Order: sequence, then structure tokens, then C-alpha cells
Amino acid sequence: MNSSKTIGIIGGGQLGQMMAISAIYMGHKVISLDPAADCPASKVSEVIVAPYHDVEALRQLAERCDVLTYEFENVDADALDAVIKEGQLPQGTDLLRISQNRIFEKDFLAKKAGVAVAPYKVVTSSLDLEHLDLSKRYVLKTATGGYDGHGQVVIQSATSVLQASKLANSAECVLEEFVTFDMEISVLVSGNGSAFTVFPVQENIHRNNILSKTIVPARISDELSQKAQAMALQIAEKLDLSGTLCVEMFVAGNDILVNEIAPRPHNSGHYSIEACNFSQFDTHILGVLGLPLPPIKLHAPAVMLNILGQHMEKAQTFVQENPSAHLHLYGKLEAKHNRKMGHVTLFADDAAEFGEGMDW
Ligand code: AMP
Repeated sequence: MNSSKTIGIIGGGQLGQMMAISAIYMGHKVISLDPAADCPASKVSEVIVAPYHDVEALRQLAERCDVLTYEFENVDADALDAVIKEGQLPQGTDLLRISQNRIFEKDFLAKKAGVAVAPYKVVTSSLDLEHLDLSKRYVLKTATGGYDGHGQVVIQSATSVLQASKLANSAECVLEEFVTFDMEISVLVSGNGSAFTVFPVQENIHRNNILSKTIVPARISDELSQKAQAMALQIAEKLDLSGTLCVEMFVAGNDILVNEIAPRPHNSGHYSIEACNFSQFDTHILGVLGLPLPPIKLHAPAVMLNILGQHMEKAQTFVQENPSAHLHLYGKLEAKHNRKMGHVTLFADDAAEFGEGMDW
């Protein structure tokens, strides 16, 4: 039996690195494509050094690999379509196009997948912001190119309408009603094109719009958890999903609203490396190879803390004092402010403080 494949990963950051590690221990070979020769994936794979949209480099990757995948959604879908062979990108480029544009994404979620989202409308200029009912709050988001809160304006007064008007005149946008949520959660789901497996519900705590901490299982009722998992599965089925997808959601009372989807493993799922029988990276690799997927079991409640550039020293001290903490460092050379350098995962039993109190 020779089931060993060569897997090409577009993007050599920490997600690509952790995907590659899963692929390698399953016996596969990995080639990554990244503009930086010393990217995190370079520790564990060969790297084709080129910009992500470089068609010649993508062609080379496609020629040398059996299967292709990506670690982030801002990949040039047209360039990929031009180079891939039939069936070589199981996730497909449609999913890329949906997750690159908030208008396509919202329309897909609300109209095709049939899951609840915050009420929204497409905004093509500041004219669409006239006559807003300012007894409500809104969030204006650019349709493309936004991330971690960039390209967003919260509208709660006439002054913020002015600010939002500038954004609306500079780019196509989506206007969403502001959700007064009790909690932000995410659910990972993996597929192999026809069958799906779902992870436990993750509770996410952000600081300055960057994920700071994930607590699993999320501290919500079983009923809400099941609802969130069912919604993630419904989305996966509509997509005939291959690989791992993360569904980010808001819990507001008894409602769950989907905020966005990421068609790849996600920072909020890193705990699964130690805390689940299979990690989000394992199921991603199994899924894109079209292999059977296992039911996911959580060994024990866990918490994951991100290590940003400014946390490096505190994190080192923390792991010295807490040897049961699982430390992951991605091998990035420069510890810049707010740059994701690594993470730590702890089981609840090993954490003196668990939940809100635990932080750098
Ligand atoms: P996003 O770029 O859509 O992931 O948004 C970044 C963050 O902004 C989310 O994690 C939420 O904390 C917040 N946010 C986004 N959309 C809304 C909304 N409609 N209502 C309230 N908060 C939101």
C-alpha cells in the first residue's frame, strides 16, 4: 500500500505549519508556497518562495503536488482556477470567493444555508446610509479586505454616520445591525465532500479585536451548544465541505447568529491538538484527501491562550511555573507587537485559574 501523497499548502504561516505537521505524521510530503523563505512552515516542509498570487509559482506547486489546500482565504481564486487539475483542490474556489466577500458570504449564509445572521443590507455609497434609524446601532464593514476589525465602523450617532459615509464612498460595504451578544463562539466542522464531523463549541474572548483566549466547551447550555453545532453542520452540508471550516457566531439570549466563516483551520481551534482525539489540522488533512472522518471527542475542558509578541517573556515564565501547559511556538524570528508568536493550551485540571481570570 502506498497511500502517501504530496500536499501543497498555499501559505506557510502557523496554520500551514500545523497542517503540515499533521500531514507528515500521517506519512505525506508537504510543499508550501510563501513569500518568506523562513516562514513557520519552512521548519517542517519545503517552501516555494513566491507571492501567493504568482501564477507560475502556483503552477509549479500544482504540478508537483497531488492535492492542494490553503491556510488562509485571501488566495487569488482566478489564478488557482487557471492552474489546478480536475479535483486537485477539494475545497474548491467557490468557497474562497464566498469567504473573500462579505456580501457573497452573508447571502450564502442567509439565503442558501438558511442560518440566522444579523439583519444586513448591501451599501454601495453613502446615499444608502441616509435615513438610518439611529435608535439602533449598526456595524458597517467593507465587503472585501477587512480583517480583525479593520475596515469597520460602528454607527451609533450622527457623528459615526459621517465616518461611516467616508468608508461607504471608498468601498462596497455591508451594513449589519449591531448584535448585543452575550458571548462570541465558534464551531469547527470538517468534511470529506460527503460526510462531516463537528468539534465542541468554543468560547472566544477577543482583546483589541484579536483572539486572546478560547475556552472549551463554551459556557452555554447544552441546548445552545447543540444548536450551534447543528448550524455548522448545515453550512458544511450546503458546501459539500472538504477540509476544516470555522463558523464564528454570536450568542444573544436564546439566539445564535452566524457572523462569518473561515474555510480553513482557525486560531480558536488550536486547543484541539491536545484536547481532542483528532485535531482540526488532522481532520483538515483527512478531509482534503477524501478519507473517512472520525467522530470528535473532547478529552477534558481546556483553555488556549494566544502568545502575541508582547507576551513572550510572560509566556516563558508561565510555562516554567506551569509545566503542564502545552507550549507551541511557531518559530517566527521577530516578536512584533500583536504578532501571533505561539499559544499555550491547558486542561482545566492543570489551570489554577480557569476562564476569565486566566491571562498574561
Ligand atoms: P469580523 O471582522 O466580522 O469578525 O468582526 C470583528 C469583531 O467585531 C467580532 O469578533 C465582533 O466582536 C465584532 N462584531 C462584528 N460584527 C458585529 C455585529 N454585527 N454586532 C456586534 N459586534 C460585531
